[in-house]
Amino acid sequence: MKLQTEAIVAKLREIGAKKVMVQVPDGLKPGVFDLFNALSREFRIIISSDPFFGACDVGDSSLYSDVDCILQLGHSEIPNVRYPKPVVFIEYKEEKIPEISEKIFEGLKDSGIMNIGLLFSIQYAEAASSVRTMLEGMGFHVIVGKNDGRLKYPGQVLGCNYSTGHSIENQVDCFLLVSTGIFHGLGAQLALRKDVYLLDLNDLTLRNLSPETDRVIRKRYAAIERAMNARKICVVVDTKIGQKREKLARVLVEQAKAADLEPVLIYSNNANPTDYENMRCDAVVFTGCPRVPIDDQERYTMPILTATEFRAAIRARKDSRYIMDEIVAVD
Ligand code: SF4
Repeated sequence: MKLQTEAIVAKLREIGAKKVMVQVPDGLKPGVFDLFNALSREFRIIISSDPFFGACDVGDSSLYSDVDCILQLGHSEIPNVRYPKPVVFIEYKEEKIPEISEKIFEGLKDSGIMNIGLLFSIQYAEAASSVRTMLEGMGFHVIVGKNDGRLKYPGQVLGCNYSTGHSIENQVDCFLLVSTGIFHGLGAQLALRKDVYLLDLNDLTLRNLSPETDRVIRKRYAAIERAMNARKICVVVDTKIGQKREKLARVLVEQAKAADLEPVLIYSNNANPTDYENMRCDAVVFTGCPRVPIDDQERYTMPILTATEFRAAIRARKDSRYIMDEIVAVD
């Protein structure tokens, strides 16, 4: 990603920023010296070295009163989050689009697929647009779904929100996600009821994610089953601005009490397995990023569940299939 310093300066000027906290993803950290020097000519800059997880996380809240603007590089805004300060988001869009051959998609045709729902993670918006042109040229009908208030663009996905897929679920034979790695694809396949094919731009492969997602679902059901024997439950609210669902957590606490369990409500900014071990709890229900329970269970000695998984454990909801906890809105 080239740091577009002129565009950044223009945006900071536009909002009258003076003191700015900058969040830089790891991949761009080698550029912080240049960035600091370029922006410091006009603004008072502090660079945050803390890790951050996306537009749901605009850094350490104790710093908010000390700056008048936050600059976050790499992610797109989450429109329905009420940020505590003006935030300038500089999206990272991969400019180099790898050469993709039509051959990759021939298997889809052979399996009788005609209607494809196109999804992408934000970095690959441009690549997704090229893929769309190619697929249409091959005779596929490509549909791009509408975003809800948590996503900025039609077709975009986050690891916690697949509204663009749900909006067209009944019109497509399958989904095709343009991304790299499994993170967004796994979420898409957990959330959506049609097969998700991942076009992985790292190695230019296309694969159906259904089989590997089934293995993850089996692990999630194993965690749900273990939680059925739990008594002491930590219901956790993550205080990151775009993950905070205290209202949901309070409802879960009441549901736990109604099921004769012993719940406590916890505030946390960084989920840490040791904290819950020290509390001697039998299970954790995590209402922040739903990918923490799904992707990080191995770090925990006790089952850690999403809100929908916990409701399945206490039989407060009966679903015929695995339901992913997606974040639509926060408090
Ligand atoms: S809540 Fe999780 S998946 Fe959603 S944007 Fe934040 S880090 Fe990504």
